[in-house]
Amino acid sequence: MKAFDYYQPTEIKFGWGRVEEIGEVVSRFGKRCLMVTVPVFDTMAPVFENIKKSLKEANVKVSHFDGVIPNPTTDSVNKGAEIAIKNNIDVVLGVGGGSSMDTAKAIAVGATHEGEAWDYRLFSNKKITEKRLAIIVVTTTSGTGSQVTPISVVTNTVQKCKFALADSLLYPRVSIIDPQLMLTVPEHITASTGFDVFAHAFESYIHKNASVYTDMLAKKAIKRVIKYLPIAIKCKTNKEARIEMAWADTLAGLCIANAGTTLPHGIGMAISGHVPHVMHGEALAVIYPEFMCYTYKSALRKFANIGRIFNCELEDVSNEEAAEKSCEEIDKFLKKIGMSLTFKELRVPEEELAAIADDTLKLPDYTVNPRIATRNEIYKMLKKSYK
Ligand code: NAD
Repeated sequence: MKAFDYYQPTEIKFGWGRVEEIGEVVSRFGKRCLMVTVPVFDTMAPVFENIKKSLKEANVKVSHFDGVIPNPTTDSVNKGAEIAIKNNIDVVLGVGGGSSMDTAKAIAVGATHEGEAWDYRLFSNKKITEKRLAIIVVTTTSGTGSQVTPISVVTNTVQKCKFALADSLLYPRVSIIDPQLMLTVPEHITASTGFDVFAHAFESYIHKNASVYTDMLAKKAIKRVIKYLPIAIKCKTNKEARIEMAWADTLAGLCIANAGTTLPHGIGMAISGHVPHVMHGEALAVIYPEFMCYTYKSALRKFANIGRIFNCELEDVSNEEAAEKSCEEIDKFLKKIGMSLTFKELRVPEEELAAIADDTLKLPDYTVNPRIATRNEIYKMLKKSYK
């Protein structure tokens, strides 16, 4: 067996109704909390109010920064950091999907380090230190896995560049995963965030840093997504489906924290840098069919195993055949969950595709794909996904 490391310092509090514990949790880390969310809207207003109530009952003073935007930007992070400094905050609490959790993580750095959070992104020469504020998160989507990862993804709108801050100091101290909070996620956001869960599990499974540990978690996550995502999309209040998807999201998050993502996530990040209106899950779904066809021959056994999870009739065929069929299974699944997309449908200008191909090479994800693509091969995949 291949040697491996596995690390996970986040205290995970998983289960129905666990958000009630937020006051007690935050009070363990400080007395002045910055709650970080998207602008308040009807659906989420009661959730935010209940959290504030729980914090107050635990004698924690709350400031509320509600300036998170999907695919968070450096401007938004900097505004949040200013508020954290002004209010002498000691705990940052991200409540929401990946965008809110990632904004909270970046604020924890921006409010305590010289310069701005963006200066501490991956491959820069500035290092995140223990000075960062305590990070606590409550996830409301299933999801990005950000509740258990040491990553914060931020977009610099001036540079049209989406990049990650990544350091083990960014693992949340505590993460509350309460599937009850996900009952309100609309159909398309359920599908898009749910496909992200699949992509995390699948890409970590074929990643060169995959281990027996992450493989085990990835397969469990994939099985759950295949079974429960279509149910959660069809009936957003289905309790069992929401619980299983929240668990799949967490398992897949543990996988990316320890193995990582590959080519589709690199392309997806480049897409969001150029066209931020495209949701993260959409950016993955649009490229997956071409990525599958391009890659499967370089990791036959693993693609075959995934094909067999989708379709048990592939149990008795060769790895070559099952791997090839896994591409068809993904196409079918994307159609089933309403995520079979083209760049044209996503309103991505065709002329942006060249720059997206260039920028994919700025991130390490393509280098850990079982088949390493050149810039022109990436460009060809993008062109084929246009319409
Ligand atoms: P999101 O956080 O952008 O949320 C999408 C939309 O869903 C928002 O409008 C939000 O208001 C709404 N929403 C969230 N919860 C809701 C609920 N319970 N009910 C109704 N509406 C709700 O979406 P996301 O996909 O969770 O996060 C995407 C971001 O996460 C991207 O920037 C992506 O790059 C990043 N990401 C981070 C990691 C990581 O490890 N840090 C991993 C993958 C992706």
